[in-house]
Formats: sequence, structure tokens, C-alpha cells
Amino acid sequence: MAAALFVSDLHLSPARPAIPRVFLDFLAAEAGKADALYILGDLFDYWVGDDDLSDPFNASIAGALKALAGRGTEVFFLAGNRDFLIGADFARETGVTLLVEPHLATIAGVPTLLVHGDLLCTDDTDYQEFRREVRGPAWRDAFLARPLAERHAQITALRAQSEDAKQAKTEAIMDVNAAAVADLLRAYGYPRLIHGHTHRPGHHRHLVDDHLCQRWVLADWYDRGSYLTCDLAGCRTQSLQA
Ligand code: MN
Repeated sequence: MAAALFVSDLHLSPARPAIPRVFLDFLAAEAGKADALYILGDLFDYWVGDDDLSDPFNASIAGALKALAGRGTEVFFLAGNRDFLIGADFARETGVTLLVEPHLATIAGVPTLLVHGDLLCTDDTDYQEFRREVRGPAWRDAFLARPLAERHAQITALRAQSEDAKQAKTEAIMDVNAAAVADLLRAYGYPRLIHGHTHRPGHHRHLVDDHLCQRWVLADWYDRGSYLTCDLAGCRTQSLQA
């Protein structure tokens, strides 16, 4: 049966080696049997630019993705807030197809909208302002022009700031905004929606203009691996032990 698998928020880092091992096993086993693997952002804990592919840890992940694509599973990547600097060189090195969000795909006959999820957290106005800045060409060009080591240092500092800011934010602010979800579903013809980012895995139903839409939220990989399978029978989540 034609199946597509979805993952997000793996936050792969050599600092937490158990999870990258789970991911490499997943690529070799489950993902190899699927028609397609969709990575919906935050594959890496952070990404400072494609020239960092020479790092041995990054190269090992890229090589495993390339092997999977070589065995016939189509692999798609949609950027998250941690790895939005993944670009054309990464795609070329891995055989992964880069998607621009929102991406409307047909999965086992069902129109399915794919986003990372951070754009839906509209109550977090400070974050949305920061996002607009760093996702613009001016910030990107200036950042990528700096030496690799400086970029690592700057991202580490930004991460620490972001963790401090999160402490002061309520749980509600960091979840998706219901009106933003409804607006997105309306704009794309009431599809099924799959996203990650919030680390609140779940299966929700939204009634939008008399259309009942499903929203699947992917789990993060902090404690264990997890993926969503969608095929002709629908979608279901599966866990991978670390
Ligand atoms: Mn995220």
C-alpha cells in the first residue's frame, strides 16, 4: 500500500547521540519501505549554512538521507525555525527535495497541507517579529557571509536568548492560534493539515465553514522517535524506542 511517513522536530545533535542513532535506524528500516518521507522541519538542532555539511555529524545524516533516496523513497524537506538555512547544496548532497511552506500535497488521494507549524503560533508576536527578520534575505545574506565558527557562536547565543524568552511565555501563547489554523485551512480548500513545532502531538478536528478538517500534530524526538504514517487507511502515529 502506498504510504507516506512524516517526521519533525528531531533536533538532531551530536550532543544527544541516542536520537540520531534512532533516526539512522528508522531511515534504514521503516522509511525504506515507504514511498515518501516528509521531514517537516527542525531535523537538526540548528543549521548554520550548507557549508557545514563538511562536519562529520552533519555528513553522516546527509549520507543516510542520500542512501534512502537512492533506494527509491522520495524524501522531502520543509524548513523549521531551527534549520531554515538548509538550502540548495544540502538538497544536492542528499537527493532531498526542498518544499516551500505551506505545501499542498496529495497523500493517498487526500489533499494534505504541510507546514512546520511556527507560522500558526500567531499569539507569540515577539517570535513572529523575530521570524520575519531572520527569514528575510538581508539577515540571511549577512549571516551566511560570516565565518562558520562565528555563525555557530551567534546561533548558540540566539538559542540561549530564545530559551530565556520561552520561560516567560505561557503554554497557550506557544500553541497554534485557532483562527490562524482556520484561515490557513480556508485558504487551501479545507485540506487535511499536518505540522509539528509545538511538541504537542495530537489529532484534532476543526470545523471550518461547515468543513470538517483533520489536523495531525507530530511529536518531537527528545525522548524517543515518532512518526506519522498516512496511507489509504488514514493516518496513525508510531513510536520508536531510543
Ligand atoms: Mn520548530
